[in-house]
Amino acid sequence: KRRARMSSVVFEPAMLERLREVSRLTSDLRQALDQNQFLVHYQPVVNMADGQISGLEALVRWQSPTRGLVPPAMFIPIAENSDLILALGDWVLRTATRDIAGRLDTLPADFELHVNVSARQLIQSDFIATLRHALQESGLPPGHLTLELTESVLIEQGGQTVERLRQIRNLGVKIAIDDFGTGYSSLSYLGTLPFDCLKIDKSFVDNICVSPQDTAVVAAVLHMARGFGVTAVAEGVETEDQARRLREMGCSHAQGYWFGRPVPLADIRWPGQ
Ligand code: C2E
Ligand code: MG
Ligand code: MG
Ligand code: MG
Repeated sequence: KRRARMSSVVFEPAMLERLREVSRLTSDLRQALDQNQFLVHYQPVVNMADGQISGLEALVRWQSPTRGLVPPAMFIPIAENSDLILALGDWVLRTATRDIAGRLDTLPADFELHVNVSARQLIQSDFIATLRHALQESGLPPGHLTLELTESVLIEQGGQTVERLRQIRNLGVKIAIDDFGTGYSSLSYLGTLPFDCLKIDKSFVDNICVSPQDTAVVAAVLHMARGFGVTAVAEGVETEDQARRLREMGCSHAQGYWFGRPVPLADIRWPGQ
C-alpha cells in the first residue's frame, strides 16, 4: 500500500506533463488544419514480378512550424480522440485523390491509390457521401482507389462494418486490411468480410529470413490470400534478402524502404523517367 502511494507521487508529474502535452497537441492540430500545415507523402507499392510501381500509399505528415515534420504516430491517435480525425481524414482523401487524378494519363491501367481510413471516419453516417464527393471532385475513377482499414478497426466495429464495406465496394472502391496479423481477428469472421487486399504487417516481414515461425505465418497468410482471391502486400520490406524470400514464397506485391520511402509525389521515380 505504502509503495503504491509513493509510486503515485513519483508518477503524477509525468502524467500531468503528458496530459498537458496532449492538450497542446490537440489545439496545435486544430490550428494546423486551418493553416494548411499537413502534407501527403506517397510510398510505392511494387509488383514483385517486375519491380514496377503498381500503386502508391498516401501517408499524412504534419509540417509544424515549431515541431518540425511530425510523423503520424505522434498525432493520428490524438486526432482520433476528437472530431479532428474527420476533417483531417477528409482532407487526406481529397488531396490524394486530386493528386493522383491529376496524372492518371501517365499511370498504369491497374494503378491503385491507397488511403488510410480510421474507425471514426468509417462509422460516420455521411462517410459514403464524403467518399463519393472526393471521387467526383477529383475525377479519380473509383477503381483506382483502395481504402486501408486496420484489422483491429474491422473487429472492434463489429456488425455494421460489413454493411459499410459493402457500400464502399458498391461504389467500385476496393478495401485493404492493413497491419494484418496483429489484430486477433478470427478466421471465421475474416471470411465474412468483403475485401480485396491483405497487407501483411511489418512485424512478420522483419524476421522472415531468421524466424521459422514468422515465415510460417507469412506463408499461411499468402496461402489464405490466394484462397480468398485477394492481393497480398508485404509491408515494411527493408532488405534485398527479405524481398527475395517473399518473392520465392509467391508474394505478389510489397512495400518498404527497400523499394522506396514515403516521399512527396514529385519525388516518386516512375518507370522511364
Ligand atoms: P500504415 O498504414 O501501416 O503505413 C505504413 C507505415 O510504415 C508508414 O509509417 C511507413 O512510412 C512505414 N514504413 C513503410 N515501409 C517501411 C520500412 O521498410 N521500414 C520501416 N521502419 N517503416 C516503413 P508512417 O507514414 O509513419 O505512418 C504510420 C501509420 O499512421 C500508418 O501505418 C497509418 O496507420 C497511420 N496513418 C498515416 N497516414 C494516415 C492517414 O492519412 N489517415 C489515417 N487514419 N492514418 C494514417
Ligand atoms: Mg496503411
Ligand atoms: Mg500497415
Ligand atoms: Mg502500420
